[in-house]
Amino acid sequence: MDYYALPIANLIEQFSKLPGIGRKSAQRLAFFVLEMDREEAIRLSQAIIEAKDKIKFCNVCGNFTDSDKCTICKDNTRDRKTICIVEGPRDVVAMERTREYKGLYHVLHGTISPMDNIGPSDLNIKGLLERFKEEEIKEVILATNPTVEGEATALYISKLIKPLGVKVTRIAHGIPVGGDLEYFDEVTLAKAMYNRTEM
Ligand SMILES: [Zn+2]
Repeated sequence: MDYYALPIANLIEQFSKLPGIGRKSAQRLAFFVLEMDREEAIRLSQAIIEAKDKIKFCNVCGNFTDSDKCTICKDNTRDRKTICIVEGPRDVVAMERTREYKGLYHVLHGTISPMDNIGPSDLNIKGLLERFKEEEIKEVILATNPTVEGEATALYISKLIKPLGVKVTRIAHGIPVGGDLEYFDEVTLAKAMYNRTEM
């Protein structure tokens, strides 16, 4: 790194922290930025700051939003009696891409993971229970990832809400164990959604 001027070295270091970006890609991005117009570079940095400053979690479902409620929760054409529970906001995007699902979501922001000291109280589960008081919910679809933690979380939530008289289903596993919802193609995910099973 010694042969880089310090500001370039810093830029490369920051880029290399991004997921999927190795040393070489980080270097390529840094040089790309240096070749940008100043205005272009400012737009890039402002977009990052603006996203960080303005994006928060939806009061209802925990999805990303720039207002109190996300666009999905605000959308009155959606089926408000069905809630699909996912681990993170990226899973909402993955589900939406299938165009199969027209209900609402609930974002947990993680999974129960004793190894990492993450228990139910660390997740957005309290908010989920609140929704049962305010909305007439008929079905909850558990769409956590098919990992050990995802399964444990699905089971925990299932036990928690079944006594409320709600139909609880789990998405089918046409998808490999250890997989990540975000990376499945639309067909696989749509199929898994269609073949969901009651828990
Ligand atoms: Zn929402």
